Amino acid sequence: MAALKSLLILSIVATSFINIGFARHHKLPIVLIHGGAGDITDDRIEGKLKGVKLAAQIGYMTLTNGGSALDAVEEAVRSMELDENFNAGYGAVLTWDGEVEADASIMNGANLNAGCVSIVKNILHPISVARSVMEKSQHTYLAGEGVMRFAKDKGFEILPNGTLVTESAKKALENYKNQTVELKENHKYFGEPGTVGAVAIDAEGNIAASTSTGGLTGIGRIGDSSILGAGTYADNAMGGISATGHGETIMRYNLASRILHLMKFRGMSAQDASKTALEAMTKHFNETAGVITMDVFGDVGIYFTSKRMAWAYQRYNEIHFGLEKGDDYMEIIDQS
Ligand code: ASP
Repeated sequence: MAALKSLLILSIVATSFINIGFARHHKLPIVLIHGGAGDITDDRIEGKLKGVKLAAQIGYMTLTNGGSALDAVEEAVRSMELDENFNAGYGAVLTWDGEVEADASIMNGANLNAGCVSIVKNILHPISVARSVMEKSQHTYLAGEGVMRFAKDKGFEILPNGTLVTESAKKALENYKNQTVELKENHKYFGEPGTVGAVAIDAEGNIAASTSTGGLTGIGRIGDSSILGAGTYADNAMGGISATGHGETIMRYNLASRILHLMKFRGMSAQDASKTALEAMTKHFNETAGVITMDVFGDVGIYFTSKRMAWAYQRYNEIHFGLEKGDDYMEIIDQS
């Protein structure tokens, strides 16, 4: 009996350290978050972990209070858009002219509806504009003047210029401008605080995914975050994904879609599929990225080829989180 008990304890402990993608079935709902992949500096670690854990809890609470998976991924991302530890909403990185230009997307795996936006300026929650495009327009993707006109029409507050700009984003832009042309072309890292994303599955197996970003410092370009099948995808029959990292590479590799295909057609777990696709992508392009992936059973995949990626998920009253390779810390949430 004693031997059986210690075996049981041992297996619980082991599971809590290596259970990424390990548990199977009937584990719903769950909300999975990332707060950006890259060379996250040490001074950002605490703030980012706090932010992703909070977002996971907000998303989970949204679900358990009767919200949909779509509500959960929107609310989770909104909480990080408010937090300057992330490259989204307030605190997003700046273009050459010192402006925030956001990209975001949201997708409903139940009906494959989606909303995508780019070049959103002076709006605190680009993810909500994306959702509004999905639900209140005939279109899937609006950008630039079109999205700004649409947002104004739908009552989104357009903030005065500079409201979303933080000191640290200004510093990252300054660093970028001081780099050599070669370094600029090989855009690596200039202190960007990290794109945000969420994937949720509700108790009925409905999956949703969302991603929001300011893109890359110093460049007014559009990355992968708002592109379906690259930075974001959700399909109740396949799973859900949000990606982060080098956008040009992620979109050329169609990262989200490849991972889902490995799961659906090769029978890989969310974890194995994420690892396989990301390693192949990084080998081919010599650029890094990270993903959060969920399969139709609520099993998760968390993988990154970058140095670090902040992530967290809540299932039951457990928050799992990490940032370095191999991390899987766990805290019990008091839900009383
Ligand atoms: N993927 C984002 C982009 O390229 C950046 C990031 O995830 O840090 O716009």
